[in-house]
Amino acid sequence: MSKSLSGKTALITGSTSGIGLAYARALAGEGANVVINGFGDADAIEKERHGLEALSGAKALYSGHDLTRVDQIEAMMKDAAEAFGGVDILINNAGTQHVAPVEEFPVDKWDLIIALNLNSAFHTTRLAIPTMKSKKWGRIIQTASAHSLTASPYKSAYVTAKHGLAGFTKTVALETATFGITANCISPGYVWTPLVENQIPDTMKARNMTREQVMNDVLLAGQPTKQFVTVDQVAAMALFLCSDAAANITGANMSIDGGWTAQ
Ligand code: NAD
Repeated sequence: MSKSLSGKTALITGSTSGIGLAYARALAGEGANVVINGFGDADAIEKERHGLEALSGAKALYSGHDLTRVDQIEAMMKDAAEAFGGVDILINNAGTQHVAPVEEFPVDKWDLIIALNLNSAFHTTRLAIPTMKSKKWGRIIQTASAHSLTASPYKSAYVTAKHGLAGFTKTVALETATFGITANCISPGYVWTPLVENQIPDTMKARNMTREQVMNDVLLAGQPTKQFVTVDQVAAMALFLCSDAAANITGANMSIDGGWTAQ
């Protein structure tokens, strides 16, 4: 039976863990070829790649390219073009964080966050658009963040990159609007990923708090539902944005943040 994304190719940056991996599984589940990217244990990645092929009945390619480097991004996009004739669905998701006051913010961390969280999305997008235009169909999705709409102290580089991503996406949406291409941001609040889970024991110790106190009074303090977003909820939004029903959603910033940015 044909699935909704059979014959399409999706490239998801930063998809060896967390939200990116959930996107890859969701899109493969709908029959897409997937290009996954990111770092991690080689055996675990290979196992995941096989699993994605079993899910999709199509192909899964792994790219270990470092997206802080333009030449590596170009190589990844070339590999995808050679394997699949181009990318139909581009999800810019790779990202990192560093927390420090502006006057103490390490310059190398600033450069890393801007390169990975913002510049890499420009490079993948500029390289993906020509094929999308020629096919008159494309989906560009950015994992932005609640921090594309609001700020928190000590996250200057991250907030700058995510606000930049939101502006970039609106411009791309306008430039591609008559080509069957949509460009949108998904902006999660706190998402339950291993990254978040691993912070809990240390925070319990540092603040002398219970697990529940850390979850509610620290991590979820700004999230009115007092619930973490799940990676599957974020991936479901991406699937919807890839559907025909979402063909007129472009230039939008879709919040999935338990009400964070409503405040
Ligand atoms: P994660 O750390 O689990 O995943 C990050 C991915 O990026 C990994 O696959 C990693 O290998 C890859 N990566 C890191 N550096 C790279 C590089 N130089 N080149 C290529 N790949 C690289 O994080 P996550 O929580 O799944 O976050 C994914 C995205 O979602 C990020 O853009 C993040 O800002 C955003 N986001 C996360 C949350 C949250 O609460 N977890 C909330 C809002 C937005």
